[in-house]
Amino acid sequence: MKITIVGSGYVGLVTGACFSEVGIEVVCVDIDQNKINNLNKGIVPIYEPGLEAMILRNMQKGRLSFTTNLASAVKESEAVFISVGTPPDEDGSADLKYVLAVARDCGKHIDDYTLIVTKSTVPVGTSIKVKNAVQEELDKRQVKVDFDVASNPEFLKEGAAINDFLKPDRIVIGLESPRAEELMKTLYKPFTLNGHPVIFMDIVSAEMTKYAANSMLATKISFINDIANLCEIVGADINKVRKGIGSDSRIGNKFIYPGIGYGGSCFPKDVQAIIRTASEYNYDLRVLKAVEAVNNEQKLLLYNKIMQYFNNDIKGKTVVLWGLSFKPQTDDMREAPSLKIVEKLLEAGALVKAYDPIAINEAKHHFGDTISYYEDQYEALIDADCLAILTEWPEFKIPKFKIVAKLLNKPAIFDGRNIYDKEEMKELGFDYFCVGIKTSA
Ligand code: NAD
Repeated sequence: MKITIVGSGYVGLVTGACFSEVGIEVVCVDIDQNKINNLNKGIVPIYEPGLEAMILRNMQKGRLSFTTNLASAVKESEAVFISVGTPPDEDGSADLKYVLAVARDCGKHIDDYTLIVTKSTVPVGTSIKVKNAVQEELDKRQVKVDFDVASNPEFLKEGAAINDFLKPDRIVIGLESPRAEELMKTLYKPFTLNGHPVIFMDIVSAEMTKYAANSMLATKISFINDIANLCEIVGADINKVRKGIGSDSRIGNKFIYPGIGYGGSCFPKDVQAIIRTASEYNYDLRVLKAVEAVNNEQKLLLYNKIMQYFNNDIKGKTVVLWGLSFKPQTDDMREAPSLKIVEKLLEAGALVKAYDPIAINEAKHHFGDTISYYEDQYEALIDADCLAILTEWPEFKIPKFKIVAKLLNKPAIFDGRNIYDKEEMKELGFDYFCVGIKTSA
C-alpha cells in the first residue's frame, strides 16, 4: 500500500514516519524546497524525540521518501493525507487556504480512486469544501475519477508525538463511504491490532471532536490557573488543592497543573477557531471566551510579579529566562508564553538573557539580537538580577542552587511552572515566587 502525506511539518513528518514504520510505503510532500532537500539528506527540520532515527531507518529501507512533486506522489497513492497548517485568520477563524490548495492539486492530478483524508485541524464543514475543490478540478479536466473524503484529526502531543501516534488513546475517523472505511481500517490495522481503538463516525462529528478535545484541555488549564490565582489571594496552596481535587477519579490528576498559560500551535488557535465557528452559527461559546481571556492574562503573570518585586521599575535590570519553548521536549515556540514575557520585559527597559536546551535557534527567529542567548544555563546568570523559569525542562528541576544564588546579584527566582519547593527556596535564601501559592520575599 502506498500513501502520500502532504505537508511535512510536525504532524506530517510524524504521520509519515509512523506509517512507514509499520510497513506502508509513504511519500511526504512539501512546498518548501529547502525543507525537502534537507530531509533527503537526512536532516530533520524539527526536534521531536525519536523522529530523526525513525525517519532515517525508513528512508534506508526505501519505505519513506520526500518530494515537492505532489503530482507524481498522488498518482501512485491510494490515500492522500492533508497535514498542512491551518493558522488563524485575522478574525480568529482557521485559514483554509493551504488545505484547499492541496485539495485542488489533488483534483488536478488523481486519475484513479483516491481517498483524500484531512488530518489538519479544520472547522466543521471543511471536508465538504475539500470535496468541492477536488470535484471542480476534475470537472475542469472533464474527467470522471472516483474519490472519497474523510476526516482523521490528529491528537499527537509535541514532545511525545511518536508514542502518541504509535500507541494512541483512540483514532477518530469521520467518513461517508464503505470503501473509505475499508481503506482506513487496513491502514490503521497495525495500530488496532495492538488494542488501540478506532472510533468511526460521520465527518462533521470527527471535525468537531478535535476542537472539542483541545477546547476541553485548554479549559482545564485556564480553570486551574484561575483557581491558582484565587488560592494565592486567599492563602491556599494550589499544589495541595490540585492533589485534593485530582484524586477524584471524575476529575483526574492530568492537565491540572497551574502555570503561565497554554501556548503552542494548537490550543490558542483552536479555541479561537471554535469560538469563531460558533459565532458564524449565532451561538455564543461563553465558557471558551472566558478560557481565552484567563489564558491571555496568565501569560503576563510572571512579568507582573517581576515588576512588583522591583517596585515597577526594571529599566536596566537583567532578567534571565530558563526555557523558551511552549513546553518541554520541543523547540516549538508558537504562541509560547515566553514571546509575550520577552516583549513586555524589553518594553519596560529590562535586559533579557535566555537559555533553552533546544529552542535557541527557533528563538533567534523570534527575538533576533534583542536578547542574549546562552549555551550554559549558569553562565546566563552572571550579574543578572533575577531568574524566571518559563518551561519545565527536566534539567531545571534540581539545579545547583548554591551556584544560582552566588551568580545572581540578588537571589530571586520567579517560577512559572511550580517546579521548586517554597520552604526549600526560603531555606536556601531565595526570594521565591511561583503560581497559586502565597510567598513573601
Ligand atoms: P507545520 O507548520 O509544522 O507544517 C505544515 C507544513 O505544510 C509546512 O512544512 C508547510 O511548508 C507545508 N505546506 C503548506 N502548504 C503546502 C502545500 N500547498 N503543499 C505542501 N505542503 C504545504 O504544521 P503542523 O504543526 O504540522 O500542523 C499541521 C496541522 O495539524 C494543523 O492544522 C494543526 O492544527 C494540526 N495539528 C498539529 C499538532 C501539533 O502538535 N503540531 C497536533 C495535532 C494537530
